[in-house]
Amino acid sequence: MAKYFGTNGVRGTFDVLTSSLALQLAQAIGIYFKRGKILVARDHRLTSPALSHAVIAGLQSMGCDVIDFGLLPAPVAEWSIQPLQADGLIIITASHNPPEWNGIKVIDGSGITVSRERGEEIEKLMDRVSSVPWNKTGKYVSSTGTMEKYVQAILPLLNVEKIKKRKLKLVLDFGNGTTALTEPLFRSLGCELITLNAQMDGRFPGRPSEPTEKNVQDLIAAVKATQADAGIAWDGDGDRIVFVDEKGSYVIGDKVFGLSILWQFAQKKGDVVTTVATSKIVEDIAKKSNAKLLYTKIGAPYLSETVAKKKAAIAGEEVGGVIWPQVSLAKDGVFTAAKLCEALCEKPLGKWLEELPVYYTEKTKLEANEKQKTKIVQKIRAYAKKKKFKFIDIDGVRINFDDSWVIVRASGTEHYVRVFAEAKTPEKAKQLLSEYKMLAK
Ligand code: MG
Repeated sequence: MAKYFGTNGVRGTFDVLTSSLALQLAQAIGIYFKRGKILVARDHRLTSPALSHAVIAGLQSMGCDVIDFGLLPAPVAEWSIQPLQADGLIIITASHNPPEWNGIKVIDGSGITVSRERGEEIEKLMDRVSSVPWNKTGKYVSSTGTMEKYVQAILPLLNVEKIKKRKLKLVLDFGNGTTALTEPLFRSLGCELITLNAQMDGRFPGRPSEPTEKNVQDLIAAVKATQADAGIAWDGDGDRIVFVDEKGSYVIGDKVFGLSILWQFAQKKGDVVTTVATSKIVEDIAKKSNAKLLYTKIGAPYLSETVAKKKAAIAGEEVGGVIWPQVSLAKDGVFTAAKLCEALCEKPLGKWLEELPVYYTEKTKLEANEKQKTKIVQKIRAYAKKKKFKFIDIDGVRINFDDSWVIVRASGTEHYVRVFAEAKTPEKAKQLLSEYKMLAK
């Protein structure tokens, strides 16, 4: 079991993820990436400059050449791996976590985030680091202009003329995060913009970084007050996105992904990749379009790995991260926003949402230690087998019924077993949840 790496890199508060740990991890990452050319980017958290310097020092001491982007949204940094032919990328960010947290996200040369399993290999290298001789230390280049290059690269993938003509009125809530750097993109699409929390601030004074419905109430109010076409909110590093429709209704991640599939399929069909925790909305859309749906474990690395292997058309997860393979293998909230501007030229967001199937979700969690977690999941698997239910057990056990499903899954980071149920009516979802909660006990 990895000591530091979770499903999406290393995360911790600054007293745990210290500069010296960051340096040691970076040295091991430098060896893992064969002392090659490594890109480094960071978010705007108060601890990010310190951690970033430590990471760069660690990499250079292993002989890695470093290109330092400084501040960038995560998907923009991830896009740059391919044009720069880099051997890897490290992003200092804790995504949507509270301000005292930070993290080290590691992406390989093909644009795939390093999973917990690969993180474990990196950790094994930590005791075996040896610095290169003084005359072999890596070179350092500070690089600017990546945001502009990203915009130039994605504009040809959009119908810019159509979007410009429509003159969309958008409220953008950057949540004091690095997506504030993307404002020129929306200006170049001819959108009329009202911006909220547009100052990058590592204390996140405007709202907590996770774009939950509760946290984006100002955005909802602003969309209504300004009669905008839509509101958009990102998390701290810009891989996740939520919308608010023209009536001020919050559009959750599952639906953003559903809409993204519809819009991608209007231009290019293919396989869809998603995690076992995603709404049946996605399965229904795939089925209707005769597309194959591939389920993965929960976590961005597994989505990216499967997209690359299967050459899928699109991938996404329930919290609003969508991978557009025409851009990169990263969840890209910036491209999702720009691409869905195209869809908004066709009809209002509320009308698009009417095309998505409706489901109701219920969630709960049960306290459990490591041993109990394994036992509970085994029990549910045995039950599903006995009942001859259709189930997927790559990450917990997801049981699929005709118009509903339930998953019982051990949390990777906390002492919980989580139970999610989704059905066509709220009553059915509640009933499924309580049934499986009882079974899991
Ligand atoms: Mg994020």
